[in-house]
Amino acid sequence: MNAGGPAARLHIDWTVCDGRGLCAELLPEALTRDDWGYPLAAPGRIRGSGDATNVPLTGAELVPAMDAVKLCPLLALRITRP
Ligand code: SF4
Repeated sequence: MNAGGPAARLHIDWTVCDGRGLCAELLPEALTRDDWGYPLAAPGRIRGSGDATNVPLTGAELVPAMDAVKLCPLLALRITRP
């Protein structure tokens, strides 16, 4: 993460996600999975009470994040700009 903040954020819509974890495999440094398999921000990726479903991305993670958005079978992911 650069000093100017994240290049973008990955939003995870848990209301449609089925928790199988393809996205976490594509973005292993940005995402982890909870006890039920749902993806969320990896430890240390968000500060304080930040939202674990809006995951800050580095510039290098943008391409794999776009792949994850395209490959998510339930269209549960989208990229937002800060
Ligand atoms: S790829 Fe989509 S459906 Fe699968 S765990 Fe990630 S967000 Fe959920």
